[in-house]
Amino acid sequence: MSELFKQLRPILERNAAYHAALSLFSWDNETLAPENAIELTSHIIGTLSMESYSLLVNDNVKSLLEQLSKADDLTESETAIVRILTKQQEDIWKIPPEEYREYNELSAIASSIWAKAKEENNFLSFVPSLKKIISFQKKFASYRKKEGQSLYNVLLNDYEEGITTQFLDQFFDKLHTHLVPLIQRIGQKPQMEHAYNSFHYPKEKQETFCRFLAEHIGFDFSRGVMAQSAHPFTDSLHNHDVRITNHYYEDSLESAIFSVIHEGGHAIYEMNISDDLTLTPATMVSMGVHESQSRFFENMLGRQIEFWKPIFPHLKETYPEQLVNVTLDTFYHGINLSQPSFIRTEADELTYPLHVMVRYELEKQLIDGNLSVEELPEVWNQKFKEYFGIIPPDAANGVLQDVHWANGAFGYFPSYVLGSAMAAQIYSYMEKHLPVKELLETGDLKPIREFLAKHIHQYGAMRPMNRLLNDMMGEGLNVDYYIQYLTEKYSKLYSL
Ligand code: ZN
Repeated sequence: MSELFKQLRPILERNAAYHAALSLFSWDNETLAPENAIELTSHIIGTLSMESYSLLVNDNVKSLLEQLSKADDLTESETAIVRILTKQQEDIWKIPPEEYREYNELSAIASSIWAKAKEENNFLSFVPSLKKIISFQKKFASYRKKEGQSLYNVLLNDYEEGITTQFLDQFFDKLHTHLVPLIQRIGQKPQMEHAYNSFHYPKEKQETFCRFLAEHIGFDFSRGVMAQSAHPFTDSLHNHDVRITNHYYEDSLESAIFSVIHEGGHAIYEMNISDDLTLTPATMVSMGVHESQSRFFENMLGRQIEFWKPIFPHLKETYPEQLVNVTLDTFYHGINLSQPSFIRTEADELTYPLHVMVRYELEKQLIDGNLSVEELPEVWNQKFKEYFGIIPPDAANGVLQDVHWANGAFGYFPSYVLGSAMAAQIYSYMEKHLPVKELLETGDLKPIREFLAKHIHQYGAMRPMNRLLNDMMGEGLNVDYYIQYLTEKYSKLYSL
């Protein structure tokens, strides 16, 4: 390690400590914290975020990072750490400290206001908070923007470096052109047998089966835990403490199953990040790449018949009465059923990208255009009708369903579809090098995990998305693989 980089170590350690503490609070807020804790806890969160702010925003760190940026004896991981810390510092430096604190407290409270509004199906009660969040986001983006850059592009870059509305407009346009006719043709076909999914599935049994599934895909319980929350998510303190949550609906078999495979995919990524990078700001490339790994496990692996061959008997043993008449073939068709629905997180693989497209178009207008918060529910419903042919019955099934905007995460949604597209592309490459289906059939996922760890996970944020994909496959992100995958899969499933 270079002498100069050694000077950065204590700063990295303090930075990691603040981030781990903040992560732990956000984990706790979603899982165990009592209902009325949030108001006071948000002050603690505010104080901690100020500590991490003043750690980075000072002249000593600035000059150290400037020297390190010019150093030529850094390793690849050290270079990545310096690059990302510099960007974080530059971004945060432009925001006045009072505004930074006020915003962090606001966003901690806004998500509980959103949760209540959703529960009561009352969009108006969320309007004032959402307006404040948007005005902060726009203000912060304007501090950080480069000349000629739109505010929404600044926000998109927080989640996926180099992605612009220009790229996304084409990306979504291509998806729209190919998927809408496919969805319409499926709408005219007889639907899959799916009644088994909504029988009664006791929570405890679901939890036990999901634990088994997490282990089956390679989630390491000596370095991870699984808890319950309103919405499943993954949180990571470092590569030896990765946490996933799940939510068990007793009238749905599949919801928790695919959530645990999805979050398990996120967690396996975090667990495989190199020891040189964990506890530094350079742990992951982007939300899109992270999502590519969760979706790889959930969709590319978890929705294949071969994945279920070795474990379907265990599923039937767990629910002997509910699944008495369900064959592997029925189950395989059921888990791949496609039909328009209101809730993004419950949507099937084929209609999913259109759910994100609705949000992408609204966000763009909220940040760069003239769409007002008051108009949101109506415009949401119009778009929904246009893409799916159905209108949400209420705000909870429409504009209020996601927590992202309450958290200030504008520009985040596109990552989900970028991730799906990457997952399809990576799968097509992996199949040329590994007998994926055979491995799934034998229940041995280790070579698959090792392949992903070798080409993606270990690098953390060392290589930006397109470089990572290029180094692996000789090609950057290409949406055609995703379109081809969906078209072939669903044409076969529905005998089109
Ligand atoms: Zn995810």
